[in-house]
Amino acid sequence: MIDITFEELSLRPEILKALDKLGFIKPTPIQSQSIPHLIEEHGDLIALAQTGTGKTAAFSLPILHQIDENNRSSQALILSPTRELCLQICKDIVAFSKFLPQISVTALYGGTAIGAQIRELRDRPQIIVGTPGRTLDLINRGKLDISTIEYVVLDEADEMLSMGFQEDLDAILASTPSEKQTVLFSATMPKEIRRIAAKYMKSPTELSVISENKSTSNVSHEYYSTYEKNRYKVLKRLADYNPDIYSIVFCRTRRETQQIADKLMQDGYSADCTHGDLSQAQRDQVMERFRKKKIQMLVATDVAARGIDVNDLTHVINYNLPDSLETYVHRSGRTGRANKKGVCISIINAREGHKIKTLQKILDKPFELKQVPDGTEICRRRLFNLINEVQTVSVNEEEIAEFLPEVEEKLSNLSREDLIKRFVSVEFNRFLEYYSGAGDLNADLESRKGRDRGRGDKKSKGKAGSYTRYFINLGKDNNLNPKELITLINQSMRGQKFGIGSIDLQKSFSFFEIEEGYEKETLKALKGAKFRGRRINVEIANPKPKGAARRKKKKKSNNKYRK
Ligand code: ADP
Ligand code: MG
Repeated sequence: MIDITFEELSLRPEILKALDKLGFIKPTPIQSQSIPHLIEEHGDLIALAQTGTGKTAAFSLPILHQIDENNRSSQALILSPTRELCLQICKDIVAFSKFLPQISVTALYGGTAIGAQIRELRDRPQIIVGTPGRTLDLINRGKLDISTIEYVVLDEADEMLSMGFQEDLDAILASTPSEKQTVLFSATMPKEIRRIAAKYMKSPTELSVISENKSTSNVSHEYYSTYEKNRYKVLKRLADYNPDIYSIVFCRTRRETQQIADKLMQDGYSADCTHGDLSQAQRDQVMERFRKKKIQMLVATDVAARGIDVNDLTHVINYNLPDSLETYVHRSGRTGRANKKGVCISIINAREGHKIKTLQKILDKPFELKQVPDGTEICRRRLFNLINEVQTVSVNEEEIAEFLPEVEEKLSNLSREDLIKRFVSVEFNRFLEYYSGAGDLNADLESRKGRDRGRGDKKSKGKAGSYTRYFINLGKDNNLNPKELITLINQSMRGQKFGIGSIDLQKSFSFFEIEEGYEKETLKALKGAKFRGRRINVEIANPKPKGAARRKKKKKSNNKYRK
């Protein structure tokens, strides 16, 4: 199965021609497994697959193969979490359908005027790629007719849910025709996805390509342990130590993303950032420069980085460890693509060693504890990098010929030895100076048992407390507001002192955070209790990787890495 070719998948010749042009030689595992199923058996499909496994072609090619290009009704609806991903999918479909000129595709996403999208819909594209919010909006306005849809794709379904699109998804799916083919892709399979599958899909075939994802085996995992206050210095040393670095640096919040990028730029590094507080135009511009390698380090939030399609990153750097295993997998999958080697580096503090252990266990990959390079090592590395460049630089004889006599004359009183010393120093003094007397940034990992929980945990609370996130089946529709939720929690858990973190109220449900270590008590106190006559259900939720609801709190919860 793995070595099958696109021809053997019996795709239309127009598609094969386009794939050939794109340099797609053979299908990725997810493609070779899902394409035959979707074309031949015409069944529904759920696939567990990580970023970079080639999902777009896996669902687009069967759609293009089966679509009736002479029929101008909307036939395929692809839902994806962000504008960037929608545009990327659109672009890919345009490329795949290069030789099927009657097929047209359009992207629908928020944050931009709806008028142009309404006009595009009037041209009756057969394939619609949209974010759930804007798509539903256009359906409700009567501008998008999905009664003729035959193919529905939920791309990055888990991400759509964690971005709060659950209700929109339900509303859209509920109004699609019952006769259709549905494909769902997700990197993880939380309960809510199972619910959607059970409700809207017909005996779907399930497949998982996580273990076959070649790209991740090209990634090696490294981590550096340091003191909290030295995180930024460690990042700089890593950049200095790897002069050819081409990397995404992941931060947790938009603010931190901006701050780290600002500092890097002030300190003379080739860096910039992308996050949700920037305008679309700013983000596009940064991405363009990053793609063209005019920026070496792109500092980004997870959400903003989702649509980044760059294949040759040397490193992914976790400025902070992400809150969930899934996010770690997503981040690390950004490097080591297209058969290149990549390194996923995490900077951790001395108390986060257990998180690395958990990651190591679940991913079943070795994680190497590296020493933060000291000044001497960095200077050495830079020196030899320079020497290397001198050795390999191509000399443009003609262009420099006219200057050489003057240069030679000016340098004539220097011996070869002096010349070398000076030339090395020109580039080098700033490193020597900067790193003279630079300290050791390594921090010994604390063993978890050995640490004084009470003191250690509480003390850091104000700055970076650890919270567990809970789901509750009450929302604004139940007239719940933050104050009432806090009262409800406090009353139910009377007599206990604990911190309440961020609260995220949705229409029919909400999320809230309570200091870590109170999971049992919280569940016991709230589950089955009543609010305005309604029975309460509370469950531990996956941590939320998004900026909005947690801008003020950096979470570090121990149960983040549960599968
Ligand atoms: P995912 O959606 O799973 O994150 P994509 O569909 O965006 O992954 O594909 C990741 C990258 O791999 C893209 O640059 C895409 O063009 C490339 N790619 C996908 N399938 C193939 C293939 N069969 N051969 C070569 N490159 C491929
Ligand atoms: Mg994708």
